[in-house]
Amino acid sequence: MQQTEQQRFLLPHIADMEGYVPGEQPKDRTFVKLNTNENPYPPSSFVLDRLKEAVDGELRRYPDADASEVSRQLSALFSLPMDQILIGNGSDELLNTAMRCCGGPGDRVVYPTPTYPYYAKLIELQNATAFSVDFDDEFSLPRPLAAAQGKLTLVANPNSPSGTLVSTDELADLAGAVPGILLIDEAYVDFSDGGCLQLVEDHPNVIVVRTMSKSFSLAGMRIGFCFASPEITAGMRKVVDHYNVGSLAQIAAVAALEDVQTMRTNAERIRSTRTRLTEALVEIGFHVWDSAANFVLARVPDGEPAASLYAQLRDRGILVRYFAQPRLADCLRISVGTDEETDLLLSELGAALRAG
Ligand code: PMP
Repeated sequence: MQQTEQQRFLLPHIADMEGYVPGEQPKDRTFVKLNTNENPYPPSSFVLDRLKEAVDGELRRYPDADASEVSRQLSALFSLPMDQILIGNGSDELLNTAMRCCGGPGDRVVYPTPTYPYYAKLIELQNATAFSVDFDDEFSLPRPLAAAQGKLTLVANPNSPSGTLVSTDELADLAGAVPGILLIDEAYVDFSDGGCLQLVEDHPNVIVVRTMSKSFSLAGMRIGFCFASPEITAGMRKVVDHYNVGSLAQIAAVAALEDVQTMRTNAERIRSTRTRLTEALVEIGFHVWDSAANFVLARVPDGEPAASLYAQLRDRGILVRYFAQPRLADCLRISVGTDEETDLLLSELGAALRAG
């Protein structure tokens, strides 16, 4: 790629790469927003109460660098010691940190694809070597992942954009077979019956990353957390920015964790809407993968162009996600909204299909 005068100040691989493009957050118009897997329900009422109290007193000071209260809550909730827990500015920060800790220039980083596109960007940023293995059409865990012998292996479970879940036993086998770290990204785990936290105890090479963005309805607060051996979390702690999680984010996280029941109730509602959405989509001719997340991946009926369905829905005020890549070119990823949002999506989708 031709570099401009100013770009030569950048590391060449940074100057050359395309940046990650996050899901659209429109400001100019109100949409039924089903494109970025946000939770349609508000967080626990504790969150707002505590934030209001905190705004006057806390902002002048730096936050607790260790986010100890958040760690303490997580430690009690998941029965793991605090030295095996690290809090991040969203789980993206923890993915980035794990990559910076474990994947240096030229190191092989392995992941199944299609998956969360940010992984590929993180690998590029490190100048590491991406080794992606295609999922089959069922999105079962590809066997060659283990044989690829990565310094770091990344698996989102449930996966995005498919929503599919692979078993803890399969991931335990993978953890035993890889020579490096197995990072399991459980951003959507609270919408599933799965969870690999137990692997952290049995496998010193496993990192489990989770987020409060989805099930806890706190995407705007930016809070993620991860679990790993004390040595690995200690290494990652050296790499995250000090004061990486703001005071208000910490307060929101603690309040939400004191009221886990609200998260579970919302997750349960989302799961039942997901079932209804899946059945209705199948009814009108879509193929929908079994989702264990708060979204579904739907392959459009034969002959319908997904890109134009996406555009038609957008014109009708409904935002879903379309990925312009060969494996997903005939698919839409639809976040599970409220029941009313889902009804609206289904009726507009029906109308768009009829309109052709
Ligand atoms: N992992 C996966 C699989 C995701 O889809 C997302 C959300 N885009 C993230 C991690 C990051 O979430 P956050 O940084 O909001 O915690």
